[in-house]
Amino acid sequence: MTSNFFDVGKYKLYNFIMAIERELINCFCENCRTNTDCFIESNHRVAVLKNKKYYFEGKRTQCLSCGKEVYNKEVVDYNCKALLDEYRKENNLISYEKILEIPRKYCIGNFSLSILLGWRTTTFAHYCKGYVPTKRYSNELKRIYDDPLYFEHILDTNYMRLKNESSYYRSKRAVNNIKMHTSKG
Ligand SMILES: [Zn+2]
Repeated sequence: MTSNFFDVGKYKLYNFIMAIERELINCFCENCRTNTDCFIESNHRVAVLKNKKYYFEGKRTQCLSCGKEVYNKEVVDYNCKALLDEYRKENNLISYEKILEIPRKYCIGNFSLSILLGWRTTTFAHYCKGYVPTKRYSNELKRIYDDPLYFEHILDTNYMRLKNESSYYRSKRAVNNIKMHTSKG
């Protein structure tokens, strides 16, 4: 009498153990040519960007039946972001989180911010979608993020480029709030 479980071969047994207490998802496995149970595990990964190797903590979707890596869009997106985060870190570029924080911090829309800076109207919106800024644009954004007075200077100098006055006053109020809180200590 043989048990199916112990009949499955060494790596399949290993996969079963790896899958314990992990959520199984259903994906198409190219190797098994069918939809199959898969699980996601963390994974040291390496990728080349602009002729340089980047090591990052990613994820891997693995087929429970054959052990091969399986395509899973969510994991690919996760790995893309993790790779770009590492790229930003190693090249001293502004982090994605800080990019998203700037419009909230200064109550300014993505398009208005681009216009104030004299950039193409969609440039900042692209960065919010995950595009990596050039060094020069990154430095400008870092300075804006770190220094409300610098942002205020840009706002006061270029406000006439904005489509309406209310954008200016809303942002000006946000800057004044920050200044008030920082002066209180
Ligand atoms: Zn498979």
